Amino acid sequence: MLKGISPLLNADVLHALRAMGHGDTLVLSDTNFPSESVARKTVLGKLLRIDATCPRAARAILSVMPLDSFVEHATDRMEVVGNPKDIQRMQQEMVSLERRITSLEDDEIEVMERLEEAQVALDKLAGELTDTDAQIAETTTARDAQLAAIDGSLGELDAQRGPLVAELPSDLLALYDRLRESKGGVGAALLRAGSCGGCMLDLDHAELATIRAAADDDVIRCEECSRILVRTSESGL
Ligand SMILES: [Zn+2]
Repeated sequence: MLKGISPLLNADVLHALRAMGHGDTLVLSDTNFPSESVARKTVLGKLLRIDATCPRAARAILSVMPLDSFVEHATDRMEVVGNPKDIQRMQQEMVSLERRITSLEDDEIEVMERLEEAQVALDKLAGELTDTDAQIAETTTARDAQLAAIDGSLGELDAQRGPLVAELPSDLLALYDRLRESKGGVGAALLRAGSCGGCMLDLDHAELATIRAAADDDVIRCEECSRILVRTSESGL
């Protein structure tokens, strides 16, 4: 199959057309013509077949071969036998059918091209999907490993928390647990440089003065977020 060459033109036909020169004659005939016997007497000496009607064969041949332009009649045709009008009508019908066939062939080629493009796009997407699946599997494995590590740390922290909790007053522990429940897991926050480490807001002078005046074992809470404030040397008091 050659690009730009009609598939009707087989290798023998192309070879014969290529070998032709000025003055050589080509006969296009249908099956009613005594083709075999005439062909044996030609320069080529053999019959060439094209599996198509004469108009289609002619169109295919003229797509690759120029006609002599310096002679009066570059083409001739056989004399019409029978009713010329009937034959003319049939020829018009043939031409119309040929146009329809050509149009359908063009459509088919276009659809094939679109199918090919869609297939390429589909293959690309399938490749991307495979990559994404591999990434998901990798990320899931990494996440599971991190979750296992976090679970391990939580276990250790729980073990450390046990003895500490035992020493705390029960009402303070209850307050802490309630706040932790309602404040996204953070019931107590560091008071650092005058700011609440829970809601990150700065405490005003009056609040800081109140905290400064409080006893060491008083439970201090942020006025903004209600969390228990833990005082240290960096609290800015
Ligand atoms: Zn706060």
